[in-house]
Amino acid sequence: MTPLDPASATERNRLVRLSNLDHVAAGEARAAQAAAAAPRGFRGRWTRRQWLQASLLGTTAALVCALVPGFSSAMQVHDGKAHMATMALALPPAPERDEAVPTSRWELVTVESGQTLGEIFAARGVPVATLHRILETESASTALARIRPGTELGFEFDSADGSLLGFQFDRSQTERIELAVAGDTITEQVIERPVEVHTTVVTGEIRNSLYGSARQAGLTPGAIATLTDRIFQYDIDFARQIQPGDRYSVMIEELWREGERVGSGEVVAATFTTGGRTFTGFRFEHDGKVEYYDADGRPLKRSFIRSPIEFARLSSRFGSRRHPILGTMRMHNGVDYAARTGTPIMAAGDARVQFRGRQRGYGNTVILDHGKGHTTLYAHMSRFANIRQGERVRQGQVIGYVGATGLATGPHLHYEFRVNGKHRDPLKVTMPPPEPLKGEALARFKAETAPTLARIQQYEQLHYARQQAAQAPAIASAGQAVPAADRG
Ligand SMILES: [Zn+2]
Repeated sequence: MTPLDPASATERNRLVRLSNLDHVAAGEARAAQAAAAAPRGFRGRWTRRQWLQASLLGTTAALVCALVPGFSSAMQVHDGKAHMATMALALPPAPERDEAVPTSRWELVTVESGQTLGEIFAARGVPVATLHRILETESASTALARIRPGTELGFEFDSADGSLLGFQFDRSQTERIELAVAGDTITEQVIERPVEVHTTVVTGEIRNSLYGSARQAGLTPGAIATLTDRIFQYDIDFARQIQPGDRYSVMIEELWREGERVGSGEVVAATFTTGGRTFTGFRFEHDGKVEYYDADGRPLKRSFIRSPIEFARLSSRFGSRRHPILGTMRMHNGVDYAARTGTPIMAAGDARVQFRGRQRGYGNTVILDHGKGHTTLYAHMSRFANIRQGERVRQGQVIGYVGATGLATGPHLHYEFRVNGKHRDPLKVTMPPPEPLKGEALARFKAETAPTLARIQQYEQLHYARQQAAQAPAIASAGQAVPAADRG
């Protein structure tokens, strides 16, 4: 996070004003988008009555949250491709009864790492037979077969005898399952909870780190990872290249349910300006595959990543050198990256595992076959990841860990790149650029991305114009010059 000087009240006020402006702008953008994307009959503007109802609902929800803290907190779930926030189960409305004494009570449980359903039910005195009957229901059988940490479960108990009356959970982002337990009979109900997808633009300028700035701007860790590990990983070296003043903008999906933001979806587009160059990435589906493309419709994904190891120091280059152990002049057929033992080593590209085993001077070695005559070799590993010979691996997948097996003076990765059996310098080898979109696909791409880029640019203009406007009065009211560092 960007450290703020607590003494600088002016600066703080300015930031508050900015964030307010951002909120307003985000709201405007969202409203505009919703109105544009709305089908006929969409409630473009709410009536006074609708506002009243919404605020009443909001009050109820706020009360529920206040009653059950913790349960309302959004939880990040990583399912491999999308990062979403799970929605807290709101308590069902209190039943209308004459007597004021409640006849049941709700307990809300968040599954912790390593917990099983059996343990959770047993801890609440629910008989095993009841759990089995729940798991036999159609809606629970598959959904609860594997519960994940963070999953929220709602239990309704009889206030008098503590027996289970009801049980509910969210089967998906859009479906809540409600089970009513009456003796041996369980009645299932699926409640549809449609999620609306809107897009919003987040823009920011880096002060200390991209992560800190982007988190402050409201991006989720998942969205930030999409920028650094997917969209811009081939073009921008986020460990070394990033400077204060670099700017980024991200158009991202927001998921809304019943007027409430429940999480974020995919990154639709992103721009990143560093060192005077602006990089752009657009999410686009083509031939059933979703990839990110540059503004010209060229896939951003390259056949090979820049280096198969992160945060490592290049300790020896490709070419002729004196061997550190043998002392003789020899050709160094690859590059060395010094790193701590146990540092993960990634597959440089999609490949098939050609070799996994011990080679004399190389120690624990993996050779990957990337097709079209390209192979890569990784040596001196302390151990292998869970990969087998003949198996397919994905680009970026961990294949092993840095070590010093074989002839090595210290822990490092020795990395070789071969084209048709001939050694090439991994740092210099130029790969054929990926095929751009053509014809109908390119036309569709241009039609889809032009308004997206226009919206991002419009938003940036608004944002930076407001930032300047917000800065000017800050200087005037403070009656003194703002230190240069505060100008961002
Ligand atoms: Zn080497």
